[in-house]
Amino acid sequence: MGNYVNGDFVEDGKKTKLVSPADGSEVATVVLGSKKSAIEAIDAADSAFHKTWVKTSIGERQKLLAKLAALVQDKSYEYARMESANTGKTIRQSTLMDIPLGISHIEYFSSTQEFKFSREISHPEYPDTTGIVQNAPMGVVGAIAPWNVPFLMAVWKIAPAILAGNTIVLKPSHHTPVTALMLARDIKEAGFPPGVINIVAGTGTEVGNTICTDDRVSMISFTGSTQTGKKIMGMAAENLKKVTLELGGKSPNIVLPDADLEHAAKGILFGIFLNSGQLCESGSRLLVHRSVKDRLLKSMEKHLQGMKAGNPLDMETEISAITTPDQLRKITDLVDDGSAQGATVVFQRNLGHQVPDNGLFFPPTILDNVTEAMTVAREEIFGPVLTVTEFTHTDEAVRIANSSKYGLASGLWTRDMKAAKEIGSQIEAGTVWINDYHLLSAAAPRGGFKKSGIGRELGLEGILEYTQTRHLFLNEHESDFDRVAYGLIISDE
Ligand code: NAD
Repeated sequence: MGNYVNGDFVEDGKKTKLVSPADGSEVATVVLGSKKSAIEAIDAADSAFHKTWVKTSIGERQKLLAKLAALVQDKSYEYARMESANTGKTIRQSTLMDIPLGISHIEYFSSTQEFKFSREISHPEYPDTTGIVQNAPMGVVGAIAPWNVPFLMAVWKIAPAILAGNTIVLKPSHHTPVTALMLARDIKEAGFPPGVINIVAGTGTEVGNTICTDDRVSMISFTGSTQTGKKIMGMAAENLKKVTLELGGKSPNIVLPDADLEHAAKGILFGIFLNSGQLCESGSRLLVHRSVKDRLLKSMEKHLQGMKAGNPLDMETEISAITTPDQLRKITDLVDDGSAQGATVVFQRNLGHQVPDNGLFFPPTILDNVTEAMTVAREEIFGPVLTVTEFTHTDEAVRIANSSKYGLASGLWTRDMKAAKEIGSQIEAGTVWINDYHLLSAAAPRGGFKKSGIGRELGLEGILEYTQTRHLFLNEHESDFDRVAYGLIISDE
C-alpha cells in the first residue's frame, strides 16, 4: 500500500511488511513514507488550499463527505477485517463498533447544520455599522495519529478539518496505517480534488517531524502520548502553529453505594477491557465505596471469567491482543512494579492455550489495595489492567479522582441523578459518563483537562478548532461617529 499524495499513490519510502499482533499472520506490505513524500504532500495541500478548496462551500464539502461515507459503508466488512488484522483488536469490536462508528461520524460531518461559516453582529458602539464574523479555515492542517483506533482516528482528523475548509496531511502511526491507506482509495473515488487530503504513513521522526516543522502547515492536530505531545508543542512553537493535543489518560470510574451494581460491573469491565485497555479514555482506576466493593468485585469476576479468549480474528472472541511488542513489555513491567509496591493481583484471567501462540496478549488483570502513591495508580498503563481503590465519603472519591495529572474522562455510577450532576461537575475531566462508559457521540466534544490535552475533537467545538476568526467591519456611509473619531487627528478646516 503506497502513500496518498496529490491524488496519486506514491511509493517513495521503505517497504515494510506488517504482521498481525493477533496471530502473527502477514497483514500487508506498506510503504513507510519518506521525508520527500511528506514535503510533496505539504506542497499539494498548500496548493489545493489556495487554488480550490478554500473557495468551496460547506455544502460542496459535505456532499463529498457523504459520498465517502457511502463508499466506506459498502466495504465496511473489509475495513473491519483489516483493522483487526493490523491492530489485534477483536473483529467483533471492529465490525460492531469502530468501523460503523467511524462511518456514522463521517455522516455527522457530512450533514451537521451546526457549523456556520459566518454570523452577523451589530456593534453597539457604532449603530450605523454591521459586522460579519467568519470561521475561516486555518489552511494546511498536519494531523498525527496513534496506533490504537486508526480508522476512527483518520475520520476524526480528516472530516472536521475538511468540512471547515482546510486541506490536510495525515500521518497515521507506522504500526497501524492500513485502514487509513484504504480510506485514501475511497477518498480518491469519492472525488475529493487532488491535494485536499493526503495520507503519508511513516515514522514520527521522519514524516511527523517534517509536518511539524514546515512553515506552510498552520496547525497540528495531534493525538498520542503526553510525552510526544510536549515535543509536538515545542516544534509548533518554533513557527507559531496552532496545536490541538489529545493525550493520555488515567481515568477514574467511581461507584457510589446506591449504584445498580450489576450494571456498574458490566460497565466497568467494558470501560477497562474494551480493546484490552488500549484506549486513551479507558476507565483504569476503579474507585469504589467500601460498602459495595466485595459485591461489585464478585460480579465483575463472574463476567470476566466468561469473556471469550481466542483468535481476535474470530467473531466469537472478546479479548483483544496488544498491538505492539513494546506496549506488551510496558504493561508487564508496570504490573510487576505494582505488585512490588504492594498492590494485590486479585484477579488475572488465565488465557492458557486459548490464544494463538504467535499473538501478543496480556491477561485481563485486577489489582486491589492500590494507593494513590503507587505508579500503577498514577501512570497510564494502556493495557487490560484495572486498579482498585476504596473510599468512604464521596468527597474523598472526588479528591482521589482529581489527584491525577491527567483529566481525560471519568465514569460515575449512581441511581441519584441529582447527585450525579453535582458530583460530575466537580470532576476535572473532559468527559464524564454517568452510568455508562466509552460511548462517543460525533456531536459531543471530547478532549482533556490538565495533562490530557489542549483543545477538543468532535462536535461543534471540534470543528471550530480547525478555524480562525475573521471579522468584517461594514460601514456603508460616513457616520457621525466617523466624524468624531477621525476628528481626533484631522480637524475640519
Ligand atoms: P505516541 O505519542 O508514541 O505516537 C503518536 C503519534 O506521534 C504517532 O503517529 C507517532 O509516529 C508520532 N510521533 C512520535 N514521535 C514524533 C515526533 N518526534 N514528531 C512527530 N510525530 C511523532 O503514541 P502511541 O503510542 O501511538 O499511542 C498511545 C498514546 O496515545 C497513549 O498515551 C494514549 O492515551 C494516547 N491516545 C490519546 C487519545 C485521545 O483522544 N486523547 C486517543 C488515542 C490514544
